[in-house]
Amino acid sequence: MISDRQYTEEELLPLSGLQHYAYCRRQWALIHVEQQWQENLLTMEGNILHERAHDAAFIEKRDTLLITRSMPLVSLTLGVTGKADVVEFNRVEDAANAVKLPKRKGWWQPRPVEYKRGKPKTTNIDRVQLCAQAMCLEEMMGISIPEGDIFYWEVRAREQVVINEALRAEVVAIARDMHNMFDNGETPSAKYGPNCRRCSLRDICVPKLGTSRSVEAYLRQAIR
Ligand code: SF4
Repeated sequence: MISDRQYTEEELLPLSGLQHYAYCRRQWALIHVEQQWQENLLTMEGNILHERAHDAAFIEKRDTLLITRSMPLVSLTLGVTGKADVVEFNRVEDAANAVKLPKRKGWWQPRPVEYKRGKPKTTNIDRVQLCAQAMCLEEMMGISIPEGDIFYWEVRAREQVVINEALRAEVVAIARDMHNMFDNGETPSAKYGPNCRRCSLRDICVPKLGTSRSVEAYLRQAIR
């Protein structure tokens, strides 16, 4: 289920926002619509890990494996842009779902790898971001990407993620809703839930008030 719409470069939204959205729609809107952002320990840890993963944009060779870091990604169909922590290219025998690489012989199959702190989750919060990365690579390279990995630092292990139709549909729906909210300047109401306790924006969101006002309106009234 891919939309027919093609977004322009000016309309692109950060791919990393899919994870915020999957955590909480309001959190996404506070960050991306209202441009509000508060760093707490959790986000700082996340940033440091990403800085490490984005350390160098070079290719390392390990026999039949090439690794690229910080690869720029874009999908005009989803209307998102961002960077992949790591994309691995595995050398394969035939051209199916593979690409040619400059100055390299043979065919190479890309596999996105996302780095996360913590451990594998029961929800799709992390998987939607990986899936969006895979969909960007597919659009950029004109191939299909059936799988990717999420590496979790806490358990030092990879979760293999199948890029299936259900996950793709979730990504398409999130991207569409993100664009609708962004275009309408909409911030959903706060609803107190289990995610609020660890949310980096809870102090400005004040979820227990159940407010439907934007943070700007809330602050204005508080100042008055
Ligand atoms: S505090 Fe709760 S409702 Fe508010 S943005 Fe965070 S997760 Fe969403």
